[in-house]
Parts: sequence; structure tokens; C-alpha cells
Amino acid sequence: MLMNVNTNAGTSVSIKDLSLSFGTVNVLKKLDLDIREGEFLVLLGPSGCGKSTLLNCIAGLLDISEGQINIKGKNVTWEEPKNRGIGMVFQSYALYPQMTVEKNLSFGLRVAGVPKPEITKRIARAAEILQIEPLLQRKPSALSGGQRQRVAIGRALVRDVDVFLFDEPLSNLDAKLRSELRVEIKRLHHKLGNTMIYVTHDQIEALTLADRIAVMKGGVVQQLDDPMTIYNKPRNRFVAGFIGSPS
Ligand code: ADP
Ligand code: MG
Repeated sequence: MLMNVNTNAGTSVSIKDLSLSFGTVNVLKKLDLDIREGEFLVLLGPSGCGKSTLLNCIAGLLDISEGQINIKGKNVTWEEPKNRGIGMVFQSYALYPQMTVEKNLSFGLRVAGVPKPEITKRIARAAEILQIEPLLQRKPSALSGGQRQRVAIGRALVRDVDVFLFDEPLSNLDAKLRSELRVEIKRLHHKLGNTMIYVTHDQIEALTLADRIAVMKGGVVQQLDDPMTIYNKPRNRFVAGFIGSPS
């Protein structure tokens, strides 16, 4: 078999010809997308267009019907999620309710056999970056929505991943918290320099966070450009209408 070597230096995640169906419903349709090393890429599109499905394919949580996914030049199409170097932050916080914040952060690392001093170091760093040090001994039930979402981001942070995947992480929060955490996520990206792929249906979120925006509709990327180009030079009527009329 031919080894697939990605010679395209500077590409973090490369998706080629990706198709995925649920039963007879074709959700992703020969989708191509190259995400650059260290960029903040926003997947923007209306509900049901396949954003979460695409993210889950990258994470390895869904088996694809056709196509190929490379991460850092390695073909990971059939690789286990834990071996892909990715961390995912979901819309719902998915924290363990019976564990303290500290235990929530350390759990995955302990399972993976990371040595204790290293776990302590990583948690201290994540807690400092996300400003959750005073919360480490609390249970999730004693946290606000914004604090819980910070902890959820912390769980990806302590794993020391190459690529962060965010699936509408702020959509359960009120407007004020949303804009606060938006700033924090941007700051996190500047500080870490990781590749971040961020799903949202919120045009403002996309325009303020993204280095580049991939506008999706019907399982296909309609336009991939920087925010100003998307805003000023939409490629088609759909992109123009979607960006032009925030919901
Ligand atoms: P988005 O995240 O953009 O809102 P999704 O990727 O969640 O969209 O869903 C895309 C389409 O796939 C929708 O029509 C949805 O109903 C369908 N879908 C998603 N997950 C499943 C599933 N597990 N089984 C069947 N259909 C699904
Ligand atoms: Mg979704």
C-alpha cells in the first residue's frame, strides 16, 4: 500500500474528498479543507449543515464513508481518537459531577498513565492560564456556566494537544459571558499558538475570532477566506445572505 505523505508544510489538518452518510442521508459531500498550522479556523454555517459531523470526523468519533484526513502530515483516517493529538470542547460541559475540578482535569491524564508530578505541573499551568486556581477544589455544581466552560477547556489544555476542536462552546451562555469568554479563547490562542477549529452558527463570533472562516452549507464548504474577504467579497448569494443578516 502507498504511504500517504503530506508534503504540504504548514498544513495542520488536511481533509480530502470527505463524504459521510447517516443511512441514506449524505451529510458531508466530498468536502475538501486545509487548515494551517497554528491558525484559528472557524466553521460557520446554519444548523444542520454538517459542522458537528465534520468536527467529529476530525476527532475520530465517526467513521467516514469516503475520503482522507491527515493531521500534521500523518494519515489518521482510521486512527483512534486518543492517538490523533486533538482535544475537543463540547457545547455541553460534560464534566464529571461527582469529582472536583482538579479531579476533572487530572482524570484523563491518570488513565493515560501520566506521572503525578507532570499532572500537577500541567494542572497548575492550565489553572493559571484559565484563571480557575480558586476553583480547583470545588465540584461542578458549585460553578457558574462560564466557570464550567473554562474547566471544560482546561481538560483539553492539560492534554497538551496539537489541535483544539470547539463545538459551539459558548452557545449555552448568556450574551455577556459569551463575549467575555470569546476574548479569553482568543487570548488562549495567542498564548498557545495551537491550531484551533471552532464551530459556530454565530456570525459575530466567527468574524471576531477567526483567522479564516469556512462557510458551510449542505455538507460543502462554500467559501474559505479571512473574515474581511468573506464579509466584503462573499462568493455567492448564500454567503452574502448568511453573513449579512446575523440571527
Ligand atoms: P450542525 O452541527 O451543522 O448543526 P450536524 O453535523 O449536527 O449539523 O448535522 C448534520 C445533519 O446530519 C443534520 O441533518 C442532522 O440531523 C444529521 N445527523 C447528525 N448526526 C446524526 C446521527 N447520529 N444520525 C443521523 N443523522 C444525523
Ligand atoms: Mg452542531
